Amino acid sequence: MDLSYQDIKFLPGVGPKKADLFNKELGIHSVEDLLRYYPYKYVDRSRFYYLHEINEEMPFIQVKGQIIRFEKVGEGHNQRLTAVFSDGKNTIELVWFKGVKYAMEKYHTKVDYVIFGKPSPFNGRFNIVHPEIEIASKMPPPEQMGLVPFYNTSEKMKSSFLNSKTIQKIIFPLVQSIKTGIPETLPAYILQKFALMNLTESLVNVHFPKNADALNKARQRLKFEELFYIQLSILRLKNWRDLQSKGFVFGTIGHYFNTFFNTYLPFELTGAQKRVLREIRIDVASGRQMNRLLQGDVGSGKTLVALMVMLMAVDNNFQACIMAPTEILATQHFASLNEFLGDIGVNVALLTGSTRPKDRVILHEKLRSGELNILIGTHALIEDVVQFKNLGLVVIDEQHRFGVEQRSKLWKKNVQPPHILVMTATPIPRTLAMTLYGDLSVSVIDELPPGRKPIQTYHYYDNKRPSINSFIAKQIEAGRQVYIVYPLIQESEKIDLRNLEEGYEYMREVFPNYSISMVHGKLKPKEKDYQMQKFVTGETQIMVATTVIEVGVNVPNASVMVIESAQRFGLSQLHQLRGRVGRGAEQSFCILLTGYKLASDTRKRMEIMVRTNDGFEISEADLQIRGPGDLEGTQQSGLPFELKIANLAQDGKMLEIARNAAIEILENDPQLEKPENRILVNQLRKLKTNTLNWGSIS
Ligand code: ADP
Ligand code: MG
Repeated sequence: MDLSYQDIKFLPGVGPKKADLFNKELGIHSVEDLLRYYPYKYVDRSRFYYLHEINEEMPFIQVKGQIIRFEKVGEGHNQRLTAVFSDGKNTIELVWFKGVKYAMEKYHTKVDYVIFGKPSPFNGRFNIVHPEIEIASKMPPPEQMGLVPFYNTSEKMKSSFLNSKTIQKIIFPLVQSIKTGIPETLPAYILQKFALMNLTESLVNVHFPKNADALNKARQRLKFEELFYIQLSILRLKNWRDLQSKGFVFGTIGHYFNTFFNTYLPFELTGAQKRVLREIRIDVASGRQMNRLLQGDVGSGKTLVALMVMLMAVDNNFQACIMAPTEILATQHFASLNEFLGDIGVNVALLTGSTRPKDRVILHEKLRSGELNILIGTHALIEDVVQFKNLGLVVIDEQHRFGVEQRSKLWKKNVQPPHILVMTATPIPRTLAMTLYGDLSVSVIDELPPGRKPIQTYHYYDNKRPSINSFIAKQIEAGRQVYIVYPLIQESEKIDLRNLEEGYEYMREVFPNYSISMVHGKLKPKEKDYQMQKFVTGETQIMVATTVIEVGVNVPNASVMVIESAQRFGLSQLHQLRGRVGRGAEQSFCILLTGYKLASDTRKRMEIMVRTNDGFEISEADLQIRGPGDLEGTQQSGLPFELKIANLAQDGKMLEIARNAAIEILENDPQLEKPENRILVNQLRKLKTNTLNWGSIS
């Protein structure tokens, strides 16, 4: 019998009230939902301990023995109950702060109990607060208890007595009854090929493991299944889109590209840049729409690659645009593109929030007539009034800063969707890229232009400031420039701004002979540009700023990045900030300043920054420390699905295996028409109702 769709309210021990809590608190409706509500941990109850064995490391223990006496302490709210429990040789104190009356009535002396709980040291002895107590004769022998599952519950559930223990009691008989078998969700040939446990056995063992080995096998199978179906649906979407969407053909490498490459390009392309250009070239000539993610560390030369792809578009009579997340960045792109292109004869324009209405009208007209070849801008690009004659390529810089809606508006600026190149300097760990962007093609620039000296990074405590100041002075005397960055976090914006302004005043006092720019998000764009420009031209030697300078700003002469309150930045943000220096030929330095007291996670972040300059290594470390849900660059978009058992930080290998399995299946049976794959189609359909729209990812 297929139990999967059966309503849980008919299960023994559930009933309408608990069912309602399951629905509302955990989204559990059917028996299958419940079976797929996996324990978050297991506790080994396969043996009894003696009290003399207890040490602080033990998470949980169970002990057999009797209560010798009770004692009520205190009055009213402060009342508590203690009991002395003996295993025959030694004693331990049991403590209740809540449910005193209940415990007094329920438990008695001279009865054999099994107590279970976490021993904690108190006044030089151990006690157990709110122990679980069972009558020993009613307990199965410990060999049969084995690993006991623990389930997450909400406060609301707990207060209605729907706690982990209750869930355990509901699932136990259920799992016994499914032993007759529930329908398998993976094809037999896949189970065989990867030596996976079948579904029924996996569900039985994930809830009530026979032993550690069976639990491991069960979890492996369930993880595989979870990751496999995510990959299968992403890859199917990609296949479908590849078949569906025709792409503009950039058939020729023409005048502009060749002239630029042969006579304007001031340096050799790196091997990685060449490889990526070849990958993109194949895409844009294929007749299918390109959807490509270009990853590369800060300063790896992505912008130049984007420019050369835009020239491919122009050579084939298409227009191209770049959308950047900030005005500063758009302005810089505009400046550097103009510098690169010189008098080659390509028309480039800039459109931002501060473009004057009069200029806009002219710009819009030139776009529509096709006179403009390349448009660079901010969000202003996506406004409906911005109409192209023939948009063939959209480049999105720092894509994670844009919402899905904003991005998708750009594809609609031509009848047939343009090619899309999204760029990010926030390297995404492979496992995340495969899931978040699994439907995109991915190119990686994993090589920096030659001659760059790796940035030296140091972590100091605030008390080092005087010697850091003299270091700064030396650098400026040598002709360099310096960034001082302060955190800016929404919730404490006011305090942050004050810190920034105080920092500015402090720097002015310490360095009366130098000029200082100050930039933050509250400045009017004009003022911000003015301050930026003074730093770019070298008129100011020091730039005091918030993270508005994080993205893309390019001042090769800057050689020192001081990050104040570095503990308040995430790893990838620190890495981004550091990328503002080390852009010229000189040795550059990054100084992370923090207070002396640091959480261990923070200390780890600082250590990683000091140890490596490799953005991919840093993003992997970030994933390990923070877990995938929190990873910078994915916060806004979030994971488009919920993982119940797999963990992207830990199950990278499994993910790879699952993805390859999905790829192979789709190669052999693109439409999933073969009888042995019917099970896949059914399962995908079932999952689709539970997950978000995959199409929204790109
Ligand atoms: P990204 O956008 O990846 O952060 P940019 O495209 O801004 O990097 O490049 C950083 C700097 O390196 C720019 O000044 C750029 O002109 C320069 N650059 C790019 N490619 C090369 C190369 N192959 N050789 C030398 N310099 C390069
Ligand atoms: Mg860039």
